[in-house]
Amino acid sequence: MEKPNLLTVENLNMFFGGIQALKDVSLNVKRDAITGLIGPNGAGKTTLFNCITGFYRATSGKINLHYQQTVDIRKILGEPFQPALITQPKRLLSCLYYKMFGGSHCVARQGIARTFQNIRLFKEMTVVENCLVAQHVQANRNLIAGLCQTPHFRKWQQQALDQAFYWLERFNLIDEANRLAGNLSYGKQRHLEIARAMCTDPTLICLDEPAAGLNPHETEELAEKIQALLKDHRTSVLLIEHDMGMVMNICEQIVVLDHGETIAQGSPTLVKNNQRVIKAYLGVEDAA
Ligand code: ATP
Repeated sequence: MEKPNLLTVENLNMFFGGIQALKDVSLNVKRDAITGLIGPNGAGKTTLFNCITGFYRATSGKINLHYQQTVDIRKILGEPFQPALITQPKRLLSCLYYKMFGGSHCVARQGIARTFQNIRLFKEMTVVENCLVAQHVQANRNLIAGLCQTPHFRKWQQQALDQAFYWLERFNLIDEANRLAGNLSYGKQRHLEIARAMCTDPTLICLDEPAAGLNPHETEELAEKIQALLKDHRTSVLLIEHDMGMVMNICEQIVVLDHGETIAQGSPTLVKNNQRVIKAYLGVEDAA
């Protein structure tokens, strides 16, 4: 039986001034699956990630997350500011509200977490503090409760610590918990980024080139950890990766972008033999 869709992207367009980075991109991310997003450099993969995770508001199109209810990611980001809004106070207030409190925070609240192509940890904070900061979306931010250290506040603090240590253990980072994140080896920093994202309890985690810079042994270890996210926690994964061995091994379905367009979507075998994909990667009609 085919798995239901968790995320559907329909006719998504993204312009940066005169540059069109995404052209009518449509794709589906299945629930309880690892989906690969591949394509040559500059194909638009990171731009698509930024649109899905609320870092950019796509120029047009739809991104629907089908989790507890269906949520249109573009809509929850609010509308972009334009001078005409000054005459419409209600729309202006809503626009300002989303500018201040919206964006990626709103998307994280809906159950989507991400990591970055260039590691973005809080390097001058400890490993465990990075995992605690990630949970601010669920945090008890009542000032009085914090000052008085109410039982409810302390209970939340304990839960956040338990969650942080749970994920540090899963990524073999317990011994590093009190080290500065910036002092970890490169491979461990990559693991910490995923552990930190998992602390938010996402239903979908978007990983942007998690194996970049890792050696083959580290890549294999990482692949196992990503598979465990799905197997042990039912977290669906959307994975951008240039390591084709890893993508073909762990992904159930693959979406291929080229020049901002979806050129193929399907199982690894189907994608591997697709002529447009071969042409995009090798620049020739025939792989042979
Ligand atoms: P890579 O595999 O090298 O990371 P990619 O597939 O992730 O590439 P993107 O980074 O999404 O590709 O870039 C797609 C296109 O959009 C490129 O032409 C890029 O120059 C352009 N682009 C991306 N971000 C911006 C931006 N903030 N401003 C202007 N152009 C951008």
